[in-house]
Amino acid sequence: MTAATQEKMEFQAEVKQLLNLMIHSMYSNKEIFLRELISNSSDAIDKARYESLTRIEVLGEDKTFRIKVSADKEGKILRISDNGVGMTRQEIIQNIGTIASSGTKKFVEQLSGDQKKDMSLIGQFGVGFYSVFMVADKVVLTTKRLGSDEPAMRWESAGDGSYTLEEAEKQDRGTELEIHIKEDEKEFLEDYRIRSIIRKYSEYITHPITLVTTPDAENKEAKEEVLNDKPPIWRRSKSDITKEQYEEFYKHLSYDEDTPLAWTHNQVEGALEYTTLLYIPGKAPFDLYNPEKSNGLNLYVKRVFIMNDCKELLPSYLRFARGIVDSEDLPLNVSREILQKNAVIQKINKAATKKVLQLLETMSKEEKDKYQKFWKEFGNVIKEGFHMNWENLDELKRLIRFESNKTAAGEYVGLEEYVVRMKAEQKDIYYISGETRGAVEHSPHLEVFKSKDIEVLYLIDPIDEWVVQSLADFDGKKLLNVAKGDLDLGELTKEEKKSQKQAEGKYKKFMKDFEEKTGDLLKEVRVTTRLTESPCCLVADETDMGANMERILKMANQKVTASKRILEINPDHAIMQSLRKMYDADPANPKLKDWYGLLVDQALLAEGSEIKDPAGYVSKVNGFLTDMLAKG
Ligand code: ADP
Repeated sequence: MTAATQEKMEFQAEVKQLLNLMIHSMYSNKEIFLRELISNSSDAIDKARYESLTRIEVLGEDKTFRIKVSADKEGKILRISDNGVGMTRQEIIQNIGTIASSGTKKFVEQLSGDQKKDMSLIGQFGVGFYSVFMVADKVVLTTKRLGSDEPAMRWESAGDGSYTLEEAEKQDRGTELEIHIKEDEKEFLEDYRIRSIIRKYSEYITHPITLVTTPDAENKEAKEEVLNDKPPIWRRSKSDITKEQYEEFYKHLSYDEDTPLAWTHNQVEGALEYTTLLYIPGKAPFDLYNPEKSNGLNLYVKRVFIMNDCKELLPSYLRFARGIVDSEDLPLNVSREILQKNAVIQKINKAATKKVLQLLETMSKEEKDKYQKFWKEFGNVIKEGFHMNWENLDELKRLIRFESNKTAAGEYVGLEEYVVRMKAEQKDIYYISGETRGAVEHSPHLEVFKSKDIEVLYLIDPIDEWVVQSLADFDGKKLLNVAKGDLDLGELTKEEKKSQKQAEGKYKKFMKDFEEKTGDLLKEVRVTTRLTESPCCLVADETDMGANMERILKMANQKVTASKRILEINPDHAIMQSLRKMYDADPANPKLKDWYGLLVDQALLAEGSEIKDPAGYVSKVNGFLTDMLAKG
């Protein structure tokens, strides 16, 4: 190869930033570079195998896929080679010179310039190929693309800002890495160290990883030793797998350093034969709500890896689950397109869904603290299920949790527990919806519930408004919004109902005047048993949209025609009694209209809504204050 054909190229700015971090890395867990490189090799082999399904001839004589690792202690070079797809010149520039993976992009976006902080992100994101520069001062990559006429390419870089590219002599497909190990990282040239790292992180790679051992005093000949020759964990009998092994496999799958909350392992035989091993992580990934991210399980067919992030294996509201499905009944060449309509996949999806829901329900009963933790991380994703999953609605109802006036902030109650705590005379389940816990906690709508010690669920997440539409009832009890309709607490407010009837007569004319003088602002003014402390509050008619739903839709820039509200007054409140007297003394008193307006605005403020004319409100209040002060 002549120097003339060698090209020098610059890395993309973000890659430079990343490389700079790697080269000066103080990260204590540098060994993960090997995991990243072997996983790249394994992916490359999967791609080669996939491409060869329709064109077997592209493999030529070399049909046995493998990854090979060897160390040259004297030359201080670690070699990793695979017979995967390899890369063309263009692919090298695209894949190695620029950042494509969204995880790596996100990682770079979050870099703060603080070594220590930035390094702790590595474990979370796994930054792939570039991590090699934590241990190497030079890397040479030689690669030949499967099924391409292009010559092999040699890529070389010291991890500074640039790399060189030139043609190379390699004849067989795949990629070979020559890693020049830094002086103080020589441990990565020791067979025992390489063996233990690969066993630790790459035991579950389905292609054989061979270590070519370095001859020493004991073993004079170089030997080839396959490091991952056990059957994959999910094929072993459950009783032979330890808790640690399950946890280790989860880490391998998810790149999550924390242990999972729970898992379920099922080997199914019968009309369909398949294995599922599904995990519930302890922490939500950063992109849980990114609609472009394809979350899913890994799919294997007869132990052969087919694809990761297979969305068809679980409904999207369970997308936090990690794990694998290994089927005996699918063809090896299944494509993503076929999967969408495949009956086997649909059956596995159904069964896997049940398994995850069961696992969660067991956790919710037997390990309450764990379940609270789970709910904090993933509750909102589960809630999406209420709109998509009529089949498992009963299970979802048992899984859902809310805060309430009987829980501390950030703690939850489920519907089963709510029912157990219900008052003997209570018939329905009550909830209040609003923007925050603070807002609903002080809402006038809660007053009677507080005074009767009745539990009210707090629906303080925007999605909750959609959830209750599917959650209409539980265990034969209706879920009722405390700010909607004509509240009837039955036996619980028998006494209050009696005095309400009496008050209705007394307040009849006054309420009519209130309605008239507030124009068409209100649908109705009526006496209530809802209030114990406030003079009045606003409620929505049974069939109308509530104030919180209106607020949420407005925030999402949706057009909403606000429905008229009903004003409910507390007949025992001093303000109401005095106003009624004012009205009885002189129905034409011009101050009445201002008072009515003021009370409606206050009711809006108390429930956390906005008032239409804040300046008008302030001037009304100032008018009354001036009167009061003048009187002394
Ligand atoms: P990621 O694996 O997350 O995509 P990497 O930085 O590890 O990110 O690798 C970047 C890309 O380089 C890979 O997606 C792949 O296209 C290519 N690549 C890396 N190693 C190999 C290899 N051994 N064989 C073929 N392509 C590779």
